[in-house]
Amino acid sequence: MTSKLQTPIDYLKGVGPNRADLLRKELGIHTYQDLLNLFPNRYIDRTRYYKINQLQQSNADVQVIGKITAFKEVEQKRGKRLVATFQDDTGVMELVWFRGQKWIRDNLKLNTTYVVFGKTNWFSGKFNMPHPEVELQEEHENNLRSAMQPVYPSTEKLSNRGITNRIIIKIIQELFLETGGRFSETLSDPLRSELKLIGKSDALFNVHFPKSQELLAKAQFRLKFEELFYIQFQLIIKNLVHKAKIKGFPFDHVGSYFTNFFSNHLPFELTNAQKRVLKEIRADLGSNAQMNRLLQGDVGSGKTIVAFMSMLMALDNGFQACLMAPTEILSVQHYNGLLEFCNKLNISVQILTGSSKTSERKKIHAALESGELQVLIGTHALLEDKVKFKNLGLAIIDEQHRFGVAQRSKLWHKNTSPPHVLVMTATPIPRTLAMSVYGDLDISVIDELPAGRKPIKTVHRYDKNRLNVFKFIRDEITKGRQIYIVYPLIQESEALDYKDLMDGYESISRDFPMPKYQISIVHGKMKPADKDFEMQRFIKGETQIMVATTVIEVGVNVPNASVMIIESAERFGLSQLHQLRGRVGRGAEQSYCILMTGHKLSDDSKTRLATMVRTSDGFEIAEVDLRLRGPGDLMGTQQSGVLNLKIADIIKDKDILQSARFHAKKLLKEDSKLSKPENKVVLDTYRDLSKYKNIWNYIS
Ligand code: ADP
Ligand code: MG
Repeated sequence: MTSKLQTPIDYLKGVGPNRADLLRKELGIHTYQDLLNLFPNRYIDRTRYYKINQLQQSNADVQVIGKITAFKEVEQKRGKRLVATFQDDTGVMELVWFRGQKWIRDNLKLNTTYVVFGKTNWFSGKFNMPHPEVELQEEHENNLRSAMQPVYPSTEKLSNRGITNRIIIKIIQELFLETGGRFSETLSDPLRSELKLIGKSDALFNVHFPKSQELLAKAQFRLKFEELFYIQFQLIIKNLVHKAKIKGFPFDHVGSYFTNFFSNHLPFELTNAQKRVLKEIRADLGSNAQMNRLLQGDVGSGKTIVAFMSMLMALDNGFQACLMAPTEILSVQHYNGLLEFCNKLNISVQILTGSSKTSERKKIHAALESGELQVLIGTHALLEDKVKFKNLGLAIIDEQHRFGVAQRSKLWHKNTSPPHVLVMTATPIPRTLAMSVYGDLDISVIDELPAGRKPIKTVHRYDKNRLNVFKFIRDEITKGRQIYIVYPLIQESEALDYKDLMDGYESISRDFPMPKYQISIVHGKMKPADKDFEMQRFIKGETQIMVATTVIEVGVNVPNASVMIIESAERFGLSQLHQLRGRVGRGAEQSYCILMTGHKLSDDSKTRLATMVRTSDGFEIAEVDLRLRGPGDLMGTQQSGVLNLKIADIIKDKDILQSARFHAKKLLKEDSKLSKPENKVVLDTYRDLSKYKNIWNYIS
C-alpha cells in the first residue's frame, strides 16, 4: 500500500506531465501520498443554488444555474477582458475573464445549461462573477458526492493554467478510485480506541468528501491528532537519542560553593518556582546526559540567581562556567550583580565584551586556559575562537531569542565534550509553541514572581493628554522616583525615528529644565562608552529621566525607576511592550506603565494595547501575540519550517497537541523499542515518515 502511494503523480489518470509539473512546483505534490495529504482549506455547501434576482452584495461564494447567451471582448488598459452574458429565468448577470480567454471561448458553449460558482461583484447595475468555476449541469450533478464541497489550497499560477478547484477534486477522486480508497492504518488500535479515533481510510475519505458535518469533524480530529502525534514522537525520540548518545559531565558532587552560598549569602528566600527549577537543573546535571534545557521565566521572575546557583554546581565539581548575554550593558549588569557574590565565595570571575582591551583579553584567555579563571561573563565575544576554556562544564545563555542555533552550537565546540547548556528567555513562548519548536529541549518554567511585588499599573493615553502625563512625571520625580521614556526605532524608518527621538528629547528638556532636572539619553548611534556613561548616570540616580530607544529593552535593573512611558506604543510588538514594561516594578514602590499613542489605531494595535492594560502575565501576552502574528513570525524564519503543518493548527488545536504529546511520551515510556505487536504500526509509520522525509520537513 505504501509503495503505491509513493507513485509519482504523473501516473495518475487525468494528471499528465504538464499538470504534474505544475502540481510539483506550485503545491509541492510529487506523489500520490502528497496529493492525498493535500487537505481542503474549507468546505462549501453546494446543494444551495441562487437565482440571479436573489444575489446579494456580499462576498460569499454562490452557485447559479443558467445559460450563456453571448460573449464579447472588451478592450481595457492592459489587454482585454472576456465577458459572457449569463441568464436564468429571473435575470441577467455577467461572467468575466481576464486571463485564459482562448480556453473559455473554445470550451464553453452558448445556450447550454451550466452551473457557475464563485464570488459576485456589483458593477454598473449588474452582478458579475470574475473567473467562475463552470460546469455542465449534468456533470455537476454526477460529481455531487457530498453536500460539502472541499476548497483546496491553490495558487494564481494553477488557476491561470486551468487547474481549478474542480480539477483538483477530480484528480483526488481518481486517486480514490485507483487505490480503492483503502489506506493502511497508521495509528495503533489501543490509541484509536482510547481516543475514539476513526480509521485512516474513513478519515481520508471524509476529509476530502465529507458525508456529513459530523464525519468531517471526526476525520479532521483523527488526522490532526496523527500529524501532531508523529511530530511529537519524532521530537521526543530526538531528545532521548541525544541523551543516550551525548555524554555530559556528571556533576554528582554537592560542594561547598553551593552549600555555603545557600546557607550564608542568599539575599532572599527563593520562590517555590525557583526551587523547583533548580531541582530540575540539578537532576539534569547529576545525570550522565548532557543538559539541554530552556528556562522560561517572565521579566523579574529571578532567573539570574538560578543561573548563578547552577554555575556553583559546575564549580563544585571542578568545572568552569560561562554566562553569555546579548548586549554589553546587560553583560556588565550581570557581572556587577554576580561580582559581589563571587567575591564573598572567593570565586574568580571576569567579563569579556567587544570593548575589552587587548591586554585584558590576553590575560583572560590565559587564565581561562589554565583554569585559574572559574567564571566568565560576556557578550558574543565569548564565541571568538581565541576564547578557549580548560574545562567548560556549563554554558548559560541569557535571552535566547537573540542568539541563533548556530551560535549556540558554537559553544558546544569549545570543549572536547559539550558542556551542559541552559538557555534562559524572558520572552515567554506559549507552551504549545514551545512544545513544537523546542520539543527536543527540556523546559523549565519559573511561573511565579518573588513575593511582595506590586503589580504595575498600565494605562493607555492619547498624545493630546501629554500635559497630564508630564504633570504625573513631575509628581513622581518629586517623590524621588526615576522615569523611562522610550521611543521606537525601526530600521526601515530609522532617520525619521531619530528625529522623533530628538524632538521628544528637546521638548522634555524644555518641560524639565536643568538644573532642577537631569536627563540621560541613550540610543544606538552613540559610542558604547557614551552609552555606558549615560546609563551609569541613571543607574546611580544622578539623572531622573532616561530618554531612550529600545536599547534598554533587555535586562537593565534600576529598582528606583517606577514609571515607563512608551511613545508611539502602537508601533511596538506585544513582546517588546511587555519587555519594556518589565524595566519598572522592580522596587518597593508602586510602578506605572503609560502607553502613549496617536488617535488613529489599527485593530491589531488596539488589541495589543488592550492586552497590555488588561494583563501582565507574560504567557497570556505571548498567546495573544501568537494569535496576532502567527507562529512563523513569532519564532523567526529560522524555525518556521517547524510549523509547516498540513492539517493541524498550532493555535486552534493546542488541546490536540497536548494530547498528542502526552500519548507519544506515554507510548515511548511503556514500550520504548516499540516491540509490542500492537505498536508495530507506529514503528512502521515512523520509519516510513523518516524514510520518505516527510517528517523531517518539520524539524530544522
Ligand atoms: P529576570 O528573570 O528578569 O532575569 P532577575 O534575575 O534580574 O530577573 O531578578 C529580578 C530582581 O528580583 C532582582 O533584583 C533579584 O535580585 C530579585 N529576586 C530574584 N529572586 C528573588 C526572590 N526569590 N525574592 C526576592 N527577590 C528576588
Ligand atoms: Mg535577566
